[in-house]
Amino acid sequence: MNTERGPCFPHIEVLRIGHRPERDKRITTHVSLVARAFGARGIHIDRKDPVLEGTVTKVNRQFGGDFFIRSGVPFKKKMNGWDGTIIHLTMYGMPLDEAVKEMDPEEKLLVVVGAEKVPREVYDMAHFNVSVGNQPHSEVSALALFLDRVLEGKELSMKMQGGELIIEPNRRGKTVVTHGSNVTSPGDPISRNWPPVPDPKLCLELLEAVGCSRPVILHGKAVRDLGLQMVRRSIKEHPDRKLDIDPGVLEAGLLVHDIGRSVTHSINHVTHGVRIARRMKLDERLVRMIHCHIGAGLTAPEAILLGLPDEDHLPGTLMERIVCHADSLVSGRKRRTLAEAEKKLRDKGANAGADRMLVMHRELEDELGIDIDELVFAIPKGY
Ligand code: SAM
Repeated sequence: MNTERGPCFPHIEVLRIGHRPERDKRITTHVSLVARAFGARGIHIDRKDPVLEGTVTKVNRQFGGDFFIRSGVPFKKKMNGWDGTIIHLTMYGMPLDEAVKEMDPEEKLLVVVGAEKVPREVYDMAHFNVSVGNQPHSEVSALALFLDRVLEGKELSMKMQGGELIIEPNRRGKTVVTHGSNVTSPGDPISRNWPPVPDPKLCLELLEAVGCSRPVILHGKAVRDLGLQMVRRSIKEHPDRKLDIDPGVLEAGLLVHDIGRSVTHSINHVTHGVRIARRMKLDERLVRMIHCHIGAGLTAPEAILLGLPDEDHLPGTLMERIVCHADSLVSGRKRRTLAEAEKKLRDKGANAGADRMLVMHRELEDELGIDIDELVFAIPKGY
């Protein structure tokens, strides 16, 4: 198996009937690509079409995965021999959401889509005739929506193993990596030679280059201002205190902690951020700050509940805790009180995280010898 579909991923195959090689080349290719991209194991086409088989095989070779295509498969034989549930997508069927609720998630699914007029017997042989909306549209859209409902969106983060090319999600355009060589497409910001610890100007350039939006960059700057202010206040009030801080690394970490938001604003921005930073060969201390800036850190069980891999995101070093806590005390560009930050976590049900944040706040105050509450208030909100 060289597609990471993850546990509990249902076994789905697609059957395309009524394919006319001379007329339906394009649309059947699209049906096949949708089936492949959105989690089906393979597709059966009723009429023999070696050209189509070649096209899909080439996509597999380039982009990986183990999707299969078989053409010249008599549809009645396939349906009769199927040892699972058969779903026929047709505008005349029962509503999609009702059908999905009734399906047995343990059963293998064969999803049948038509082209021209679908023979009556297909309706009779199917266990479910399912309508995606109640208007005529297309087998491509019907299949995509069906797979998305059954797989509950998990197909969107499915990884194809192997292949010659990997596409890195990138808000600004195409980033293609040649498998195993780390060679990226021309103009790809990740392939630029960034220093391991970029100076503040380069950090801002880097955030822009990977496609972070202006609000994300402004948020990074606001977090940087608060984090550095904590350290400066500490140095001013306790010049003899030894802080385990590298100012250049800390400033870079504060600025780029949200680099993964160039890809998504979901919790997964952390994973994307770590991946992007590693591919840019940024200093591992920056990677760590990105990794553990979320919430007040996350334990491994909390991470799993949020759909992240089984590992903790707990800040450890002083610099990691400053990045994490400064981020908690800045919403967008605006600073917020500890009480406001705590409420936000508790409203989300993250009570353990809220407790951890209170502890982190007091520990940082002790270590830095400063009053963080006073510091947050010292600057007008939304400066
Ligand atoms: N006239 C054809 C028939 O008798 O079924 C439908 C042709 S339609 C262009 C091609 C295929 O798109 C259908 O066989 C069906 O699989 C799919 N399709 C179109 N609209 C659909 C809908 N609202 N729900 C589910 N599938 C749909």
